[in-house]
Amino acid sequence: MIKKTVIFIIFFILSTAFAQEDTHKIVLKYGKHQDFYRFVLVCEKPEITYSINVNLLNDGKIKLSFTAPFDIEFEGKILSQQDKIKDLKIFKNEGSFIIGTSNISKIKVSRYESPSRLVIDAFLGEPSEEEKIKSASILIDPGHGGQDSGIKEKNSSEKELVLYISKEIASRLAQKGIKAFLTRATDEDISLKKRLKIQNALKPALFLSVHLSSRDFFVIYTSAKKINISKDDPSKIFLKEDSLVQTFVKKIKEKFSEPVYTEKLPATLLKEASAPALMIEVPKRALFSDKSYVNKVVDVLVQGTLENFKIKLQKTNDE
Ligand SMILES: [Zn+2]
Repeated sequence: MIKKTVIFIIFFILSTAFAQEDTHKIVLKYGKHQDFYRFVLVCEKPEITYSINVNLLNDGKIKLSFTAPFDIEFEGKILSQQDKIKDLKIFKNEGSFIIGTSNISKIKVSRYESPSRLVIDAFLGEPSEEEKIKSASILIDPGHGGQDSGIKEKNSSEKELVLYISKEIASRLAQKGIKAFLTRATDEDISLKKRLKIQNALKPALFLSVHLSSRDFFVIYTSAKKINISKDDPSKIFLKEDSLVQTFVKKIKEKFSEPVYTEKLPATLLKEASAPALMIEVPKRALFSDKSYVNKVVDVLVQGTLENFKIKLQKTNDE
């Protein structure tokens, strides 16, 4: 009987405490960083901050459990039961608040004073191979431009031809879902330094510089030595220059009778690029040939790139 009374009294105290308690306002801030999300929950009362329980759920969502009534304010607005904070969905009910993250491998929860706040760092797990391929990009670099025509004969010039080829490759790859970028999309003179700067900012999976050969063969150059190799980033697919070259050689040999040479070149553009970088010279006859020959060149470079970016992607998009 005594036990029951005690429990009843405790229950009574708790319920009155809850009944009298105001709904606490918690201000949420959210920032997305390269490999983690940071959520900061600020509440005036430290005991509230301390009472919030944080759990990482099996499906990668983050669950916050509250022992007192609460409202969450994000960017000046009180969140409703099903709402959004930037790109993340949230679900709120009486005792909990779920943040719809995914691919989170672990969370780190810290509590700080003045102002009283809870900080949750949610670390992103390594993306799947498929996700890596989806996010991979290629930067195509049409050689020369502007004042610099490259090889020039009669009314044709290398700068125009390689721009055409590069644009075609980019649009064909984009159709396959690969993010394709160009160092120049017009007839402009851009420095080696700028080409490298674009490359280093974009960090593509492949940097492909397109030129015209002075003779009727293909040449694929790679750097003799790389000084800027990007550290193996687990969030990205990593293509090795040697296997890139082999794939392109194989593809070219299947389609063309012109010989293919490979060579190591101490070229700044290749040496200082942080991404795997190839310079491909296409046979000179592309300058005088009809569009079908040029398109065959485009074809082989597209096919080579797709094979390097894993054929799986090609298949899923063709379905
Ligand atoms: Zn050139």
